Amino acid sequence: LQDGEVRKGDRLIQDGDLVIVYETYRQMKAVTVTKNGEFQNRYGLFMHNDWIGKPFGCKVTGKKGGFVHLLGPSPQLWTLVLTHRTQILYIMDISFVLAYLEVRPGCVVMESGTGSGSLTTALARAAAPTGHVYTFDFHEQRAEAARKDFERTGLSSFVTVTVRDIQGEGFPEEFANEVDAVFLDLPQPWLAIPSVAKSLKADSPVCSFSPCMEQVRRTCEALSTTDFRDLRTFEVLLRAYEVHEEYFGTDLGFDSSNNDSESAVLSESPPPHKRLCSGDSKVIDSGKSQLSAKDNLMEKGPKKGRRRGEQLPGCVVARPEAEAKGHTGYLTFARRAV
Ligand code: SAM
Repeated sequence: LQDGEVRKGDRLIQDGDLVIVYETYRQMKAVTVTKNGEFQNRYGLFMHNDWIGKPFGCKVTGKKGGFVHLLGPSPQLWTLVLTHRTQILYIMDISFVLAYLEVRPGCVVMESGTGSGSLTTALARAAAPTGHVYTFDFHEQRAEAARKDFERTGLSSFVTVTVRDIQGEGFPEEFANEVDAVFLDLPQPWLAIPSVAKSLKADSPVCSFSPCMEQVRRTCEALSTTDFRDLRTFEVLLRAYEVHEEYFGTDLGFDSSNNDSESAVLSESPPPHKRLCSGDSKVIDSGKSQLSAKDNLMEKGPKKGRRRGEQLPGCVVARPEAEAKGHTGYLTFARRAV
């Protein structure tokens, strides 16, 4: 959307709303809109008053002509902009956890520790509007900061943050057989397993996140000697792929039988591998073996030859990036026995 164009059904930004200011793929910021407020970044000065009444998703221009996009908050974006008070879970692990814990509207979910609330935000959104997340952290300031974040993201009515030492005291007795799913991100999760078993409804899942295998081993021991079955441990690794155009053609010579500068054609000699980066715009030129892959990705080349100025076929290929993103942790899932 250009500078606030409004379509039917668009949600409009109001005073007090949280917006995610998108500058670039790697640069986003959470901003609460206030009447007469200002936002300054390297693209210039932006007045909040210019944002009010515009739809979420729009592009807005600052005083110096620079622009940003104003996105509506979501758990996925929140994970990218929240204040880190601890290590957090990222979207790859989070989506896996939500799927395997089968979190859906109406679920009662328990979690410890709350940390920076990255996972809690996604759990709450998945369980809302009829479910609830009870999250526990023994660190008072962190719990308080998380409460404030849930107010800011509009999720406070779906989340209760409690200060409690879960490894020492376990989850509160009042949750016995009431809980649909439990998530643990604790240094010694095995200490909490007996109370997880008490809290979960029969046949309901638990997940424990641990960065090292020794913790996984001890957690699995505790799970298998308690009331759990179907133990499975996963490591989710993010593998990004580079996508670009590639030409599997050759050393394209001009057909010698047709050699004048206006009507030169390319011969179809067998292709050695040749890579063309996206954006290359080489075109066939007289006497040279050059090619163009621009705007011509899947097209099949002519059978007999090619005229100068014509674009040659490339195809889109994907290669894993040389450097895969590192290990975050292991996710161990189990189900309480029926
Ligand atoms: N999963 C969280 C997220 O995505 O933002 C991050 C959790 S952080 C790595 C671990 C948290 O566990 C810390 O906030 C810490 O205070 C809390 N914690 C550690 N031991 C605890 C205990 N015995 N009882 C409750 N919380 C504990």
